[in-house]
Amino acid sequence: MLQRWYKHGLIYEVSVRAFLDSNGDGIGDLPGLTAKLDYLATLGVTCLWLLPFQPSPWRDDGYDITDLYGVHPDFGNLGDFVQLVEQAGDRGIRVIIDLVLNHTSNEHPWFLAAREGHPKFRDYYVWSGRRPPDAEKGIVFPGVQKTTWSYDRAARQYYFHRFYDFQPDLNVANPDVREEMSKIVEFWVQLGIAGFRMDAVPFLIEPVSGEDPHPGPRFEFLHELRGRLSWRRGDAILLGEANVERDAIEDYYTVGGMHMLFNFPANQHLWLSLATEDGRPLVRALEETAGIPAADQWANFLRNHDEIDLGRLSDEERATTFAAFGPRKRMQLFGRGLRRRLAPMLGGDRRRIELAFSLLLTLPGTPVIYYGDEIGMGEDLSLPERNPVRTAMQWSSDRGGGFSAATGNALAVPVISSGEFGYRSVNAADQERDPDSMLRWLRGAIRVRTECPEFGTGAWKVLPTRDPGVLAMRFDAGGGAVLALHNLAADRRRAALRMPANERAGLRELFADGSYDDVRRPFELAGHGYRWFRIE
Ligand code: MG
Repeated sequence: MLQRWYKHGLIYEVSVRAFLDSNGDGIGDLPGLTAKLDYLATLGVTCLWLLPFQPSPWRDDGYDITDLYGVHPDFGNLGDFVQLVEQAGDRGIRVIIDLVLNHTSNEHPWFLAAREGHPKFRDYYVWSGRRPPDAEKGIVFPGVQKTTWSYDRAARQYYFHRFYDFQPDLNVANPDVREEMSKIVEFWVQLGIAGFRMDAVPFLIEPVSGEDPHPGPRFEFLHELRGRLSWRRGDAILLGEANVERDAIEDYYTVGGMHMLFNFPANQHLWLSLATEDGRPLVRALEETAGIPAADQWANFLRNHDEIDLGRLSDEERATTFAAFGPRKRMQLFGRGLRRRLAPMLGGDRRRIELAFSLLLTLPGTPVIYYGDEIGMGEDLSLPERNPVRTAMQWSSDRGGGFSAATGNALAVPVISSGEFGYRSVNAADQERDPDSMLRWLRGAIRVRTECPEFGTGAWKVLPTRDPGVLAMRFDAGGGAVLALHNLAADRRRAALRMPANERAGLRELFADGSYDDVRRPFELAGHGYRWFRIE
């Protein structure tokens, strides 16, 4: 069987800026991240996903880029980047990076030239002589962003921007722009990376507006980009951010050539299932997202650097989820999401956090963990928009949480210093020493999962349990089979699974939230309990 690396292992999402500052300037950097590769390897990370680290005025956490071929001088240089990739590779860790092609910063030299009417660069962006009538449609950040077309005095025209007005959209309909994008892809692959997390893919290929004179090249453009990528490095991947309807998903995989997509439906319904203590919403989402091409793979996540987008739930379902995990207005964002970290959403309750991770590690697909969640970091709700979950990594109980030798205002990102989730209570060094810590528990869980390739790659089915609070899933691959049971409810439950006698006799428990009696009895599960079995 062809082994595809992205179907195994674990992806770890990290912000270079917030991870570790190696030179005391208050800003996390590439050498800092490189110094922590052993920590990541020990956790079981097999692929690092780096959030943007290119030169940027940093008005949208680096997604406003001024040089798509560079490294922000605060983080180091291209040499430091290559060293990171090399040393990660020595530990069996691949590196993928964010690929932001939808827009640039308005300070990018291309846009500065475009505003002045440069014959080549003018057409790198999308302009209109008049303000299009649909300029208030398709706003990505409601309440923060007022329009998608803004007037530029120098150009004396309106320019299009899906996101903030300082992020003009690139004109994908222009073949020169598409060629430039392919060059960017080839450049980074040549430096040794294993692929890209593609930002905002639908916006790259959707037509700009009803009046757009250049209908976008749509999926053929993605296909072209994938071709250029695969020619340079056969096993490099595209992991797309595309929160789209189920009907559209097929095209992203088959025509667009994405290897992976984030499973947004599963994420939203997992939170709904946790809120309602009912596995059925999650099962529905898994069934709806099943059946993707065999070579492709879902990327599952609990949290990431953005808000949890609950936009695909009904109003009532969303209200239920808000009430359970973010009842206060300041915990919510854009009317659709939660701007909170995993641990505080679950009330800092270790049993519920373990349950959530156990689900993540056993769902069909590849798990993605957001930095800091492995130690149960919290959020800082005093920060604006999506920033509460973007605070500094908490390494130790030293001043500044061990993130940087600099202090106070010199820090590029705040450190959570007080309360239940402050760095004195929650940090990697203390958890390293404590055999019962969250970090050591998660390491163990990841290790067991690594020995069960069925979880990530197997054919799966949901087994009836006669209790909506208990989710039972079986995974088969390469002649092996595993079983995962999860009790979403707070109280003790029994799962009445029907299994052939020989399979029941061959059950071997691999991992559980506690110790249970003989497995041949009806399956007991403590409140928020979980049990993984191998079927021999
Ligand atoms: Mg630094």
